[in-house]
Amino acid sequence: MRIVENVAEMRRLAEAWRAEGEKIAFVPTMGFLHEGHLSLLRTARGLGTKSVISIFVNPAQFAPTEDFASYPRDLRRDLDLSAKIGTDIAFTPSAEQMYPEGFQTCVEVGRVTKNLCGASRPIFFRGVATVVTKLFNAVKPHAAVFGQKDFQQLVTIRRMVKDLNMDVEIVGHPIVREEDGLAMSSRNTYLTPDERPIALRLSRSLELARQLVNAGQKDAGAILKAVSDRISEGGGAVIDYARLCNTETIEDVEIVDGPTLLALAVWVGKTRLIDNCVLGGEP
Ligand code: AMP
Repeated sequence: MRIVENVAEMRRLAEAWRAEGEKIAFVPTMGFLHEGHLSLLRTARGLGTKSVISIFVNPAQFAPTEDFASYPRDLRRDLDLSAKIGTDIAFTPSAEQMYPEGFQTCVEVGRVTKNLCGASRPIFFRGVATVVTKLFNAVKPHAAVFGQKDFQQLVTIRRMVKDLNMDVEIVGHPIVREEDGLAMSSRNTYLTPDERPIALRLSRSLELARQLVNAGQKDAGAILKAVSDRISEGGGAVIDYARLCNTETIEDVEIVDGPTLLALAVWVGKTRLIDNCVLGGEP
């Protein structure tokens, strides 16, 4: 696996591959890889003839009060894991490479970014859309894989690619979970042993909502009340949001008829966890 730190070099290599008729599949990450990331990388290998991972903790998507400085990092381990899967290039630019002196342009996606994480983290999606655009311009992928764990992010990237006529296929990947149901996340390492069972309430409450909908419940208020009660029961969890939304517009719905996103963000101690599922059929 080749390690590339420089934007110009990445572009050169991508151009050369394209000239030779290779198909480039790309997985952008912030590193501290877990089985979820690795599953995306395996999917990327199957999608193209060359696969690229980027590992970059993007300062532009963190507010000053958030965990940019403490975000877990282990580049050596990430490189080992990526290489074992057969990834061709790890693109690991520095913040100076990505945001050199004088940088002043950003990409802002509209309505789909306003609810959920966009409401809690106002600069988040601007940071994500901008860095993904920059990464696409460096890696020049034919296809890029994004996890449904960050459902609103996936919708935002699809919207951006469509709106800006970007020539890249966006592929969604199902959420990868621990055996007990906890959605894998680099931030799970923040959880203390006492907090780990509390964190499980997210996936358990999604399961409860599924059961309610299967039993015929359609009322968003009733479903969200049951979900919130399940998460709050026993203390130790503070709900940032629990919402039922249209899977394309990410706007709140009142009735679940057809595919509906149930999205959660919950603070467990100092850790903000997100999880989601689609109720009422596939999106
Ligand atoms: P991150 O490093 O957290 O920015 O994530 C990089 C990519 O991996 C994003 O497309 C995420 O949606 C995806 N991802 C992270 N965790 C999971 C998971 N548990 N299951 C599926 N995809 C995931």
